[in-house]
Amino acid sequence: MKMSKNHEGVWDACLKVIKDNVSLHAFKTWFEPIVPVKLDGQVLTIQVPSHFFYEWLEENYITLLKKVIKKELGAEGRLEYSIIMENNQTNTTPYTVKLPALNKKALRNSPVSMPINVNENQIRNPFIIPGLKKVNVDSNLNPSYSFDNFVEGDCNRLARASGYAVANKPGGTAFNPLLIYGGVGLGKTHLAHAIGISIKNQFPNKTVLYVGSEKFAHQFIDAIKNQTTNDFIHFYQMIDVLIIDDVQFFSGKEKTQDVFFHIFNHLHQNGKQIILTSDKPPVEMQGMEQRLLSRFKWGLSADLSAPDLETRMAILEKKMYGNGIELPKEVVEYLAYSINTNVREMEGALNTLLAQASLNKKAITLELAKQMVDKFVKNTAREVSIEYIQKVVCDYFDLPLEILKSKTRKREVVQARQISMYFSKKMTKSSLANIGAHCGGKDHATVLHACRTVTNLSETDKQFRSYLEDLEKKLTIQ
Ligand code: ADP
Ligand code: MG
Repeated sequence: MKMSKNHEGVWDACLKVIKDNVSLHAFKTWFEPIVPVKLDGQVLTIQVPSHFFYEWLEENYITLLKKVIKKELGAEGRLEYSIIMENNQTNTTPYTVKLPALNKKALRNSPVSMPINVNENQIRNPFIIPGLKKVNVDSNLNPSYSFDNFVEGDCNRLARASGYAVANKPGGTAFNPLLIYGGVGLGKTHLAHAIGISIKNQFPNKTVLYVGSEKFAHQFIDAIKNQTTNDFIHFYQMIDVLIIDDVQFFSGKEKTQDVFFHIFNHLHQNGKQIILTSDKPPVEMQGMEQRLLSRFKWGLSADLSAPDLETRMAILEKKMYGNGIELPKEVVEYLAYSINTNVREMEGALNTLLAQASLNKKAITLELAKQMVDKFVKNTAREVSIEYIQKVVCDYFDLPLEILKSKTRKREVVQARQISMYFSKKMTKSSLANIGAHCGGKDHATVLHACRTVTNLSETDKQFRSYLEDLEKKLTIQ
C-alpha cells in the first residue's frame, strides 16, 4: 500500500480495475456518475445520485466493488455511500444520507448436489426444483444482521465472542452446537444471522442455511404428508452450517424432535456446525426429549441479557446509521433512557417516530419523541427509570454522570445525588436499597435520609424549591 492516499487517487485506481471488468455501457451508466467524497482511514465514501442507484450497485456490482476496495485499501477497506436526498420538509438545501455497503450477493450458496433423484414429477421437498440435479439452497440470511451492526456490551459479550469464534472456524471449535438463549427482542436472531454472514464471507463454499424452527417443523409435516421424509432428512444433512432459530418451538413435538435428533447427529459427526437459539437455557426447556437436551448441552450455551444504557444508545445510533438517518442526540438519549427492556421495542419506537415525523412533516424534537413514546409504550406500564432521573439531574446541574454514581462527598455532588434519590423514590417503584445501589452504593437508610433532607430543604429554601420544580417538569412526560 502506498502512503498518504486521498479519496480521488483511491477511486481513480478503483475505476481502472472496474473498467476492465464491466461493459463500457455499464461503466458509463453506473460508475462515471459516482463522486468520491472522503477517505477516512480505511473507509472510502462515494456519493451516488439516488437510493435506487445505491441499491443497483449493491445488487449488481458489490462483489467487484469489494474486491477493488480491498485491493486499494487492504483487508480492512470499507465502502460507504452518501446519497443526496431532496429535502421535502423545509424546501431548503438537499441533505445527504450515509449508508454502509451490504454485500447481499456474498450470502448466496453455490448449488448443492442432492443424493436423490429429483427428476420425478412430484416436488420432493420445498427446496428442490424438479429437473435439476444441483439445487440452490437459499441461505435466508439477512445482510443487515451482521456482526458490524451488532453492538457489543456486557449483556452479550460471551454470546458474541463465542459466535465470533464459531464464525471463524465453523465446526472446528468446542462450541458445537452453539446455543444462544435470551428473552424476546434481545438479539438472538440478529446474532445467529451475523454468524452465518461471517461464515459466508470467509468460507464462500460452505452451504449455510438459516431456518426458523417453525418453518422446519412445517416442512417436516409436509414431508410426512407427501411421503418424502427421506428427502427432507437428506436435504438437511447436506448443509454445512445449520442455524435453527427459536428451538423452544420444538417442545412437545415428539416427531419433529426425533427427526431433528437424527439430522443433528449426522451433522455433528461430520464436523458440521450447528447454531441454535432459544428463549430459555436447556435446563429450563419443557417438553423436550432428554437425549436432545443432552445434545444441546454438548457445546456452549451463551445468554443474551437486556443491554445497559450505553449499549442501547449505541444500538440506536447503529440503526440510524444503517438507515441513513440522523437525529438530535437528546432524542436518541431519551429513547434509550425510556425504553429499557426490549431492543425490538426501542427500535419500533424509533421507526414510529420517523414515520410520524415524515407523515406530519414535523421536525423530530424531544417533544415529539416524548409524545410518541408515551403512546407507543403506554401498555407496558412504563415508569421513569433511575438512570433517566440521574441523567436529567446531572444535565440540569451540569455534572458528569460518573461523578454522581461515584462516592465523592463534594457538596454540589451530594446534593444532586440526594435529589436523584428523592425523585427515584417518588417516581419509580424501586426499593430504597436499589436506589442506593444506583447512587454510589449507598444503603437504604442513606436513601431515606436523602429524601428527608430534600423535603426539608424544599420547605425552607426557595431557590432549592425552584430547582425541584424545574426538574419535576423535566421528568414528567407530557
Ligand atoms: P430476538 O431474536 O432475541 O427476539 P432480534 O435478534 O430479533 O431479537 O433483535 C431485535 C432487534 O433488536 C433487531 O432489529 C436487532 O437488530 C436489534 N438488536 C438486538 N441486540 C442488538 C445489538 N446488540 N446490536 C444491534 N442491534 C441489536
Ligand atoms: Mg428471534
